[in-house]
Amino acid sequence: MEPDYDVIVAGGGIAGMITAASAAKHSNQNLKILVIDRNPGSEVGKKTASGWICGDAVSQGSLDFLAKEVGIRYSKPELEHAVHGVVAYSPDHASKAMFDGDGYVLNRKLLPQKQMNDAKKMGVEFLFETYTEGLTAEDGFIRGIHCRSAKDNVTFKKTAKLVVDATGSASRLRTGLPIKSYIEKEIDKENDMESTGRYILTFELGERNSTYFDPEFAIIHLDQEIAPGGYAWVFPKGENKVNIGLGVQKRLLDARNRRLGRNDTLQSLIDEYIRLNPVIKNWKLADSPEDVGNAKGSWQVPVRRQNDCMVANGYMIVGDAAWMPRPIDAGGIGPAIYASTIAGRVAAEAMQSKDTSESGLWKFNTEYVKTYGFRMASSEILRRFLQTISNADLNYGMKHFLGQDDVDRIIRREHPEFKQVGFGNPAKLLWVLPKLAFARGLHYAAEKNRKLVQHYMNYPTSPETFPEWHRKFKAELQEAYSRFA
Ligand SMILES: Cc1cc2nc3c(=O)[nH]c(=O)nc-3n(C[C@H](O)[C@H](O)[C@H](O)COP(=O)(O)OP(=O)(O)OC[C@H]3O[C@@H](n4cnc5c(N)ncnc54)[C@H](O)[C@@H]3O)c2cc1C
Repeated sequence: MEPDYDVIVAGGGIAGMITAASAAKHSNQNLKILVIDRNPGSEVGKKTASGWICGDAVSQGSLDFLAKEVGIRYSKPELEHAVHGVVAYSPDHASKAMFDGDGYVLNRKLLPQKQMNDAKKMGVEFLFETYTEGLTAEDGFIRGIHCRSAKDNVTFKKTAKLVVDATGSASRLRTGLPIKSYIEKEIDKENDMESTGRYILTFELGERNSTYFDPEFAIIHLDQEIAPGGYAWVFPKGENKVNIGLGVQKRLLDARNRRLGRNDTLQSLIDEYIRLNPVIKNWKLADSPEDVGNAKGSWQVPVRRQNDCMVANGYMIVGDAAWMPRPIDAGGIGPAIYASTIAGRVAAEAMQSKDTSESGLWKFNTEYVKTYGFRMASSEILRRFLQTISNADLNYGMKHFLGQDDVDRIIRREHPEFKQVGFGNPAKLLWVLPKLAFARGLHYAAEKNRKLVQHYMNYPTSPETFPEWHRKFKAELQEAYSRFA
């Protein structure tokens, strides 16, 4: 029997919407594509009951990629506020490093409406208020989805030649994948998930202090006391409007609480962070129609490399469902844009060649790794190392070890080499000796980066050689995990 659809995309968030639009575009709108989301159409893309929880920052580069590859452009009001880059401050605010170039702070509640309208114009169909609860399989292939209506609890099935899982970090489809595959089903929650939360506020300007709020720059505060194992952010949405929040690693928050004799939670840390900001005074939750229902909330972000394999027979994973956010800054919108653009094109090509097997879809792995994903394992290692560092070391490191070359590399989303650490340069030893263990850690992370990027360059071109490649890759990672445990 002919399946109901060529492609079913589960999840109408950023990754799902772009996958659907890209598949439509690259098939000249010849495919029957369905997006299923658990929210009503007026709230499509909503991550949790408390909203479209996100820091909302995206780089111009990612948006340019989308425009070039899929022909979709965003503008106001979904691009709510323009910034000239991201500035990261050391805990003492004495050192800063500027990352990224121009970018935007999005309105995540409005963006999905624009995405949905774009996709509809390209012939994509939508099924709202429907939970995707599991995958159906036959002969070792995914054949469709078990659904449940949110309105009346009725269960039913939808069939497709290809199911794309874009249901976000809590994907039940991936964890319950019923066929043999190289896709990893579970994430290491203790080490590779961050708990994050944020407010969207309007406020009166208190002190003038651009290390705490700057309408032209997205600010990141590195501080192991305020955001243990993560960072805090102040992303402007106007002259007196802000997305402000932080992320922590639960295990490191517990350790910090034990060390300080405190009982802080993610929420109490966010509240304290806002209270300590001298610029943000007399604030209230943003209450305009485009913010109502989205001004306060928390959610989880995966911060490891993307799943080492993202395809199986009749099935692909993309976005947070594939653990794509960058390990260093938890930025997942850029990776989702790149990946879902590629995923949609590969899906269209697979339909054209009538091959939605693991082999037929494998190109998604190789192209994403080559375009964006090759930096992610080394970022994961650098993140694990940075999580072991105290505020004193962070202050020292940003002052003495981070050179312009490193910052330039980070801007290009490459791994910093920390040449300032200068083991080969006696003049630099003066800086290095007081923090020898720290300097050695940076040096090790830079070396490991080279090896991991090299390994990604040899990512298998077909599934047959994946097991051997993966075995060596995991051994490289394991060595670093043990060192920074
Ligand atoms: C607090 C916070 C701050 C962040 N800040 C930034 C930032 O500043 N910049 C950045 O780049 N990234 C940031 N991120 C990460 C970014 O938000 C995500 O990477 C991005 O939203 C991932 O998009 P997605 O489409 O993969 O998943 P999601 O946005 O989670 O979308 C998943 C969609 O699937 C739907 N869905 C889920 N389960 C089901 C189901 N069973 N049935 C049907 N539908 C379902 C959901 O309702 C939702 O509509 C942040 C994340 C958090 C939590």
